[in-house]
Amino acid sequence: MLALAGYPLGLRCMFLDRSADAPAAQVAPILTGELEDAVQLRVLAAANDVLTFDWENISGAALAPLETLTRVRPPRAALEVSQDRITEKALFSKLRIPVAAHAAVDDEAQLIRAVGKVGLPGVLKTRRLGYDGKGQFVLRTSAHIDEAWAALGGSGLIYEKFQAFSREISIIGARSAAGDIVFYPLSANTHGGGILHYSTAPFAHVRLERSARTYLRRVMKALDYIGVLTLEFFVVEGRLVANEMAPRVHNSGHWTIEGCVTSQFENHLRAICDLPLGSTRALGNAAMINFLGTLPDADRLLTIDGLAFHDYGKEPRPARKLGHCTILKSRATERNSALLHALKLIQWS
Ligand code: AMP
Repeated sequence: MLALAGYPLGLRCMFLDRSADAPAAQVAPILTGELEDAVQLRVLAAANDVLTFDWENISGAALAPLETLTRVRPPRAALEVSQDRITEKALFSKLRIPVAAHAAVDDEAQLIRAVGKVGLPGVLKTRRLGYDGKGQFVLRTSAHIDEAWAALGGSGLIYEKFQAFSREISIIGARSAAGDIVFYPLSANTHGGGILHYSTAPFAHVRLERSARTYLRRVMKALDYIGVLTLEFFVVEGRLVANEMAPRVHNSGHWTIEGCVTSQFENHLRAICDLPLGSTRALGNAAMINFLGTLPDADRLLTIDGLAFHDYGKEPRPARKLGHCTILKSRATERNSALLHALKLIQWS
């Protein structure tokens, strides 16, 4: 999606991926290797004007030597903060962004203490390398402590208070090296089993949007950020509680391809390539639905007026994100009924 956004601007991408048949290979030259393969990373950096990432678990140590060969954007510090849920929450707290009560957990005795201090219910998560609900265990009673420890114990963990949220929302913005910032309208996100199922946008809520923008701006400034940055929030009793940040283009912003004047992918490229940022104005009311595990029948979905179909060309695997569709309508009511219709045609495995 980055490469496709770059073509009209005359920008040519090159990728590094583990497999030669990665989606990017359909549209751009690709190097294959582990994402921390020092040799391949050097080749990639030496051949390109700027290097970016759309997967946040690549280590800062792997990227550091590349900074003498090319520009690495977003900055490595942003990547490193986002890789550890404890340092991420510490940054949010320092910037006066509300977070769930939490405690670091390295052994079972600490888990028992954390449950006592933070309370129940709560979520035990791996501090690092967790995404899409992987590496998480919900504790409803203290009887779950042994089971939770058996499931996740061993690596650094965080125990956080379960948030009885009314919604989950995200804000995406882009910042240029000169410090210009653009914000996309809020997305309202529906997850199942920790994985994003669908988003609707714009989620129009003046007060929450103002807070989300303030928080995103603080994080961007603190990190001297360049590129697209996403903040995910729980809405709890009408207020935002930050869950996590993603220093990259984000699944909850895929709707911006059809739904905004300039997509998140294009604005990420514009930001990292020192081009002026584009308008984030929404062109209507959008819904984005992920295709998880199986690809739905395009023939049937494409009968829905205003629907765009994206097949990433990936091998099906349970719960794997294989593609998505976006519905764009002028009115929210029309969008909602088309979304319900589409959801009936899509099975998640
Ligand atoms: P994460 O990997 O932290 O983004 O979590 C994935 C999903 O799990 C979130 O989008 C929520 O739906 C759910 N979740 C994570 N942490 C909490 C929490 N503290 N309280 C309630 N739900 C949570």
